[in-house]
Formats: sequence, C-alpha cells, structure tokens
Amino acid sequence: MPIDVFTKQRQEMRTSLVTGGAGFLGSHLCDLLLSKGHRVIAIDNLLTGSTRNIEHLAGNGNFHFIEHDVTNYLYVPGAVDFIYHLASPASPIDYLEYPIPTLKVGALGTHNVLGLAKAKCATFLIASTSEVYGDPLIHPQREDYWGNVNPIGPRGVYDEAKRFAEAMTMAYHRYHHIDTKIVRIFNTYGPRMRLNDGRVVPAFIGQALRGEPLTIFGDGTQTRSFCYVSDLLDGIYRLSQSDTHDPVNIGNPAEMTIRQFAEEIVRITGTASSIDFRPLPVDDPRVRQPDIALAREILGWEPKVAFAEGIVTTIAYFREFLGLDPVS
Ligand code: NAD
Ligand code: UDP
Repeated sequence: MPIDVFTKQRQEMRTSLVTGGAGFLGSHLCDLLLSKGHRVIAIDNLLTGSTRNIEHLAGNGNFHFIEHDVTNYLYVPGAVDFIYHLASPASPIDYLEYPIPTLKVGALGTHNVLGLAKAKCATFLIASTSEVYGDPLIHPQREDYWGNVNPIGPRGVYDEAKRFAEAMTMAYHRYHHIDTKIVRIFNTYGPRMRLNDGRVVPAFIGQALRGEPLTIFGDGTQTRSFCYVSDLLDGIYRLSQSDTHDPVNIGNPAEMTIRQFAEEIVRITGTASSIDFRPLPVDDPRVRQPDIALAREILGWEPKVAFAEGIVTTIAYFREFLGLDPVS
C-alpha cells in the first residue's frame, strides 16, 4: 500500500498492533480496539493461542492477522500508533512445557517489538504479571514491591522473562524516549480460556462439568484474586491512553483460597464431583492480591464485574464449548 494511503488512514483511524492477538486476552483486546474504531493488526505464532479466538473477525476490513513468531525479526508496513505486546505463554503448564520459547518471547520478542515501536514512534504497552512479585512477602502487592522470585526454579522462566521485559521496556523509555506502559496483570478469567490450559479456572470448571474430581494442588489454603476479562481490558485500555510509564497493577482485589474457589465451582455447577488433593507445584505463590490504589488514582479504574457474575458467564461459555445444554 502506498505510504500516502496509510497517512490518510492514520488521520482517519488509529492503528493498533496486538502481539499474542489469537490468545485469550489478546483476542478480547482486538475486539475492544475494533469497537473503539481502531484498525487492528494481530500477530501470533499460535503456540498457545488459536485462530478460533479470532475467526469471528474474518472479513472485517479493519482487522488483519499475521502468523509470526515475534522472537524473529518483525516487519510491519505502514503507520502504527499503539502496540500491545501480549505474546507469551501464560499458564504454568504452558511455560513449563515451553521454557525456552517463554524466555525468548519475554527477552528477544520484547526487544523486537520495542524496536518496532521505536521505528513507528508508537506507544508501547507490555503485558507483565503479578508473577514479578514471585511468592510475595508483602500482602497485598503494591507496585513498589520488588518481589521474591526464585530465578532458577521451574517458574523462573516466566517470572524472569517478564522481569527482563519490564527492564527492557524502561530502558527503551529512558534511553530512546519511547512512550511505554507496563501493566502487571493479576489472575484474569473469562470466555476463550483454553479448557485444558491447566489454569485453575478452566481446570475446575472443566472437571466439574465432566463430573471428574476437582484437583486442588496442596491443601487449597493458597489464595488468588480473580479479575473478569472485561474489567482487565478496560484497565489496559485506560493505561494505554494515560501518560504513566511506571508499572500499574490491574486485577480484582477480591481474594479467596483455592479451596473456597473449588467449593464455589461445585456449588454453582451443581456437580457431583469430589475434591482430589494433589502435590503443590514448586514455588507456587502462597498468597496473591493486587493493591489497586494506583490504578484507582491515575486511571480512575476499578473492577466492576463481581466474581458471582463473571464466573456464571464463564461457566456458560464452557458448557457451550463442551456441547452441554445451557442450563444444568
Ligand atoms: P494465551 O496463552 O491465551 O495468549 C498468549 C498468546 O501469545 C497466544 O496466542 C500465543 O500463541 C502467543 N504467543 C506466544 N509466544 C509467541 C511468539 N513468540 N510470537 C507470537 N505469538 C506468541 O495467554 P493470555 O492469558 O491471553 O495471556 C496474554 C498475556 O497476558 C501474556 O503475556 C501473559 O503473560 C499476560 N498475563 C496474563 C494473565 C492472565 O491471568 N490471563 C495474568 C498475567 C499476565
Ligand atoms: N491449581 C489447583 N488445581 C489445578 C490448577 C491450579 O489447585 O488444577 C492451583 C495452583 O496450584 C495455584 C492456583 O490454583 O495455587 C492458581 O493456579 P493457576 O495455574 O491458575 O495460576 P497461577 O496463579 O499459579 O499463575
């Protein structure tokens, strides 16, 4: 396409590029950006994502999908205004299965995508994670906490890749003056999660709907705080439009133990499933809850979807996915 056509398009509509755009969060982000009138380019190598998540966008003239591994050199023609870098395995069983691709996408992938942001003078947002806090020694976790990460444990491939990605992002901001944002995402759930990705939300819902035992790792006293996907995306979008460069936690502070979570899934689905206790994975964080005071203050953001509402929508999605009747 000639450059003047892109220039004209740029005046009329903003172009956003989403790496990991065929994943759970990336595909929802593509939907949100399109709904806000952006032209969207999604890049994904389909390692843990699926074209099923974006098939509803086929034929949308403002949406373009490129199958590409961002750890390799990246060329995108034309203007790009915003880059959202979400590409990375995200589930513990995914990054344990793909330890080296996880390290590479956090390091080499982030470097390539930052290079693209520099070439395009684009705003760059990286999807970081609560895992940068590791097994936290302060609770809830504030952005100024530096974390308690085991660099050589099995989870280190993910945690350290994201910590490197944050460091690289701040270096590009300070040295190259790129407009960068860092979102530290806490456990987020919703439709389009992979049923077998091993994360606790699809794991327990899938087990409950199939009548299999729910597999609690450890004694179930470890805690997590679950955020519904639409709330997370609202926070990410607000952050991308803000003038903040320091990391911002986005998550829902409503904390529960994994045992309470299992009991809720049993109650809501009405399953006859039992609970099966399994060994706790190495370095599994004992507690996790975001302190969202910063997001409240600078983004005017806070979660709106209560767990009771979001989990029912998510269960309905998985029922349909499994070909079950809508009502149990
Ligand atoms: P996901 O696995 O559904 O999506 C990740 C996508 O990245 C997949 O489509 C995958 O194919 C793609 N990808 C991986 N390596 C790639 C590469 N080298 N090149 C191009 N594409 C690549 O996971 P998700 O839950 O949607 O997570 C998205 C991002 O958000 C990740 O960066 C993750 O670390 C971060 N995050 C998610 C959560 C959460 O609770 N969902 C929490 C913290 C952080
Ligand atoms: N978990 C569990 N059973 C499962 C899957 C996960 O008890 O089948 C636990 C896991 O050990 C952790 C919590 O649920 O304490 C959340 O795990 P998840 O994989 O969703 O993400 P994490 O927050 O650990 O990154």
